[in-house]
Amino acid sequence: MNLTAILNTKYGKSIADCTNEEIYFGLLEMVQQMAAEKESAQGKKKLYYISAEFLIGKLLSNNLINLGIYDEVKELLAENEKDICAVEEIEPEPSLGNGGLGRLAACFLDSIATLGLNGDGVGLNYHYGLFKQKFAKNLQTEQPNAWIEDQSWLTKTDVSYSVSFRGLTVTSRLYDINVTGYDNRTNKLHLFDIETVDESIVEDGIDFDKSDIEKNLTLFLYPDDSDEAGRLLRIYQQYFMVSNGAQLILDECVAKGCNLYDLPDYAAIQINDTHPTMVIPELIRLLCERGIEMDDAIDIVTRTCAYTNHTILAEALEKWPIAYLKKAVPQLVPIIEVLDDKVRRKYDNEKVYIIDKDDRVHMAHICIHYSYSVNGVASLHTDILKENELHAFYEIYPEKFNNKTNGITFRRWLLHCNPELAAFITSLIGDDYKKDAAELTKLAEYAEDPKVLEQLLAIKQSRKQELRAYLKQTEGVDVDADSIFDIQIKRLHEYKRQQLNALYIIHKYLEIKAGKKPARPITAIFGAKAAPAYVIAQDIIHLILCLQEVINNDPEVSPYLKVVMVENYNVTYAEHLIPACDISEQISLASKEASGTGNMKFMLNGAVTLGTEDGANVEIHELVGDENIYIFGDSSETVVERYAEGSYDASAYYKKDKDIKAAVDFITSEQLLAVGSEEHLTRLQKELIGKDWFMTFPDFQDYIEKKELAFKDYEDRMAWAKKMLINISQAGYFSSDRTIAEYNEDIWQLS
Ligand SMILES: *Cc1c(COP(=O)(O)O)cnc(C)c1O
Repeated sequence: MNLTAILNTKYGKSIADCTNEEIYFGLLEMVQQMAAEKESAQGKKKLYYISAEFLIGKLLSNNLINLGIYDEVKELLAENEKDICAVEEIEPEPSLGNGGLGRLAACFLDSIATLGLNGDGVGLNYHYGLFKQKFAKNLQTEQPNAWIEDQSWLTKTDVSYSVSFRGLTVTSRLYDINVTGYDNRTNKLHLFDIETVDESIVEDGIDFDKSDIEKNLTLFLYPDDSDEAGRLLRIYQQYFMVSNGAQLILDECVAKGCNLYDLPDYAAIQINDTHPTMVIPELIRLLCERGIEMDDAIDIVTRTCAYTNHTILAEALEKWPIAYLKKAVPQLVPIIEVLDDKVRRKYDNEKVYIIDKDDRVHMAHICIHYSYSVNGVASLHTDILKENELHAFYEIYPEKFNNKTNGITFRRWLLHCNPELAAFITSLIGDDYKKDAAELTKLAEYAEDPKVLEQLLAIKQSRKQELRAYLKQTEGVDVDADSIFDIQIKRLHEYKRQQLNALYIIHKYLEIKAGKKPARPITAIFGAKAAPAYVIAQDIIHLILCLQEVINNDPEVSPYLKVVMVENYNVTYAEHLIPACDISEQISLASKEASGTGNMKFMLNGAVTLGTEDGANVEIHELVGDENIYIFGDSSETVVERYAEGSYDASAYYKKDKDIKAAVDFITSEQLLAVGSEEHLTRLQKELIGKDWFMTFPDFQDYIEKKELAFKDYEDRMAWAKKMLINISQAGYFSSDRTIAEYNEDIWQLS
C-alpha cells in the first residue's frame, strides 16, 4: 500500500497533514491503481449487463473491502489521527438509479466480479443522476445531484461512436468505472456520455429545455415524462445507450476473432427491464449493415439476448407510440415492423403482437419474442408472469421462462454497513460465510445460547445509538434509542403503501391521545423519493411530513411515538438505517412487488419483517418459518381476483370500519391543516375514500393486529433476539452471489 507516497507526490504532505478531502483523493488514486492490476485476461465469452440504472452508491469503502485493505487503511489513518468514516463522508454519492432495479444492477456487478466472471455493465453517465430531495413546507422539492468531480471514479477512455437520430448525429464518449470483485478480478462499468452536454441549461430546481438533445441527453436519469418532449428525450437516451452498447459489443467480439455468425459464443446480453429493449433492433440493424441477411441477423440476436422482467404493474410496461420512434429513431422502425410481422404470421393472438392496434410498440413483447431467456425476479413474481400477465407468451415459449430470485451483495450490506455484526458472526462461525453465504445457517446452532443472543441485542443497540446521533445531526430530530425502530424505506409508490403505514401512525396517535399508551415508545422512520410528476406520491410525502410535525411537537404523544421522514433517502442513508432497524416494513399490496431487495438487507442485519405475502417476502417466510416473521393481509390470489371482478369498494370499508374512518378523517383535521396544504391533504383523502386502488383498507385491521403482536413480542428480549438470529442465519440464500451463479449456470454460461 503506497498511500503515503501518493499523498506526498500529489500534495507534498504526510497523511497527518492532509485534509480528509486530500486523503479521499489519495485513496481514490491508490484504489484505481490496485484495481487496474486485477483486470483479467478476457475469456472468450463475455456478459454485457445493459441497464438504464446502476445505483452503485459510494465506492471507496466497498473497493477497500473488496481489495482486502479496509482494516489496514483504517488503522493507518487512525495512527495519523484520521477517521476513515470522516473520509468516507467526503465522497459524493452518484445517483444513477431510482431504487431496487438500479441497486440490483450494482449488486450484480459486484457479484459477477466476485465470482470471477467475465462481465461488464453498460449504461449512461448522467451528470446529475436522479434529483436530490429537499423538504420545504412539508413538501418535496428537487435539486440536481452534481456528483462528478475533477477527480472521480470515472476514467475517460478513447472509445467513441457515432449515434444517429433523425436529423442529428452525436459523438459519444465512453467513461469507465472499475468494478472490483471481493478478492477477485476487476470488471468494468461502461457509462456512455456526450461531450456537448451543457449543465448550465438547468434552472429553477431540475427544469431544463427538453428539446435540446445535444445539450441535455445525459443530464438526468429519467427526466419528467409527463409531456411529449420528456417522453421523446427518454427514447433518445435509450437509443443512445443501446447503440453505443451494441457498437461496443460488436467491436469487442470482432477483436476476439468472432465472425458475427458466432456472436452468441462471444456475448450474452442481459436486458435489465425494458429500457434497453432497442438493443435488439439496433443489433439487427448493425449486423445487416455488416452484410448479414435480416433473417440470420434476427436469429443471431435472439440467441444472444436475455430479458429480465421487473414488474407486473401495467403502467410500468413501456409502450412507445410508433410515431415517437419515427421522430427520434426512424432507422429502427422498419426493423420493428419486420419483427412484428413475423409474430403476426405465426400467432393469431393480438396479445402477443409487438405493435398494437393503437400503433404502440410493446417493448416487453420485443424482448420476449427475440431473446432466449425471460426471467422474473422472485418465485411468486415468476409464477404470476407465467399464469397471468405473460400467460400467452408462456404458452408459446415455456422453455424461455425461468426464475432468478434477487439477491444483495453482502460486502456492502453487511461487511461495510455493519462491521461489528460481521465480526461477531466471524467469531462464531469463521470467515467462510463471506465467500459462501450459505455458511450462515451455522448460526442457527446458537439460537438457544443466551450469551450470543445478548451480544446480538447489544450490537443492535449500538447501531441504534449511532443512528440516533446521525438523525440528530442530519434531520435535527431527537429519537429515543430504547424505542422500537420501525422502518419503511423505498421509493414512494402507492403500491408500496406508505399510506397504509401513515394511517397506522394516525391510528396510534389517536389511541395515545385517548390515553392508551404503548408499552414502549415507537419510532416510525420513513425514507422515500417520489417521481416529480407523481401527484399522489407527493401528497403521501406531504402527509407523512405533516404527521411528523404534529406528532413530534405534541408533548402528550411524542414521548411514545415519533415520526421521522429522512431527507434524500439514498444508498448511503440506507447503510445507516438498515443495521439499526428492529421491524422491517414490507407492506406492498400482495402481487405488486416483484421481489424487493430492501427486505433482504434488513433480514441480513437482524431486523424482523412485518410484511405481506408478496415478492421475496414469500421466500423469506418459507426460510424463517411462521415464528420469525409477521405476515398480514390478503393473498395475491384474492387481490388478483378482486381486480378481475372490479368489485373493490373503498368507501364501503370507510363507512363500516370506525378505525379506518377516524384515521382517514384525520388527514383533513384541524391539526394537520394547521401545518399542511389543504389541496394536497384533501386530494389524498378523496383518493383513498373514492378509489384506494392499492387496497389499503381491506388489510388495515390485520396490519394493526400483526404490528401490535410484533411490539408485544419485542418485550421478551431473548425470544426476539432468537428471531433476529434465525433471520440472519437464513439470509444466505439472498446473497447476489447465489443469484449470479444461477444466472450464469442457466442463462449466460460463461466459463
Ligand atoms: C435496496 C434499495 C432500494 C430497494 O428497496 P425496496 O424496499 O426493495 O424497494 C431502493 N433504494 C435504495 C437506496 C436501496 O438501497
